Amino acid sequence: MIRVENLHKHFGGFHAVDGASLEIEKGSITGLIGPNGAGKTTLFNVIAGVLPPTSGRVLMEGEDITALPPHELFAKGLLRTFQIAHEFHSMTVRENLMMVPPDQSGENLWSAWFHNARVREEERRIRARADEVLEFLTIDHIADEKAGQISGGQKKLLELGRTMMTDARIVFLDEVGAGVNRTLLNTIADAIVRLNKEQGYTFVVIEHDMDFIGRICDPVICMAEGKVLAEGTLDEIKSNEAVIEAYLGT
Ligand code: ADP
Repeated sequence: MIRVENLHKHFGGFHAVDGASLEIEKGSITGLIGPNGAGKTTLFNVIAGVLPPTSGRVLMEGEDITALPPHELFAKGLLRTFQIAHEFHSMTVRENLMMVPPDQSGENLWSAWFHNARVREEERRIRARADEVLEFLTIDHIADEKAGQISGGQKKLLELGRTMMTDARIVFLDEVGAGVNRTLLNTIADAIVRLNKEQGYTFVVIEHDMDFIGRICDPVICMAEGKVLAEGTLDEIKSNEAVIEAYLGT
């Protein structure tokens, strides 16, 4: 589904991504691991159109999507999750979800909020979808809480929920488990697996928690110093000499 060819991203003289090549198979949940500073987030940002590459190409289903802006990638179904921005903290969890889809005419729902019955019908539809998403993610009980007040794990579920309000086909998740307790991490893992199996989402997941990676990801790709070191099942990766050396070296 995605092919990254010899990608470089330099910050001044520093090569954060240094000739990375990899493929993401359609329908997979691919894990991206590697020591801190390996270039994982930078790679995500380049694929998702947040940063332009220094050189190299990104293809999606054979089409060159290198450096397309995020909204064009969004239209193709490629999404990278981001932390809920500060300005959305004072809105409720449900409102955060309802903000995501643009309405059919291309107008933002909120700019047309009071206009007419069609808009109100659209609002009802989007609200119903938001409630379905909240139920799917088992966070329907916090629908009316302010997003700024929910726990870190619940915020991660909300980030995932935002992708479910779109027609996403491939989702890049950065550090899903950071600071999240075990119970919620299991909920997040279950939601990812269900979205993958039931709705055909492809996922690429950066995560440090190896239990989480081992449980849901196949294959796993390991990066170090801006390059891909190894790819395989987590067990294969763990016994790979170059990978062991890269982790010990940090
Ligand atoms: P990872 O996600 O694997 O921890 P990152 O992609 O975040 O790695 O970072 C790779 C390297 O690139 C790090 O050494 C980081 O300091 C550097 N880096 C990332 N973003 C920038 C930037 N905007 N300017 C300069 N250096 C950066």
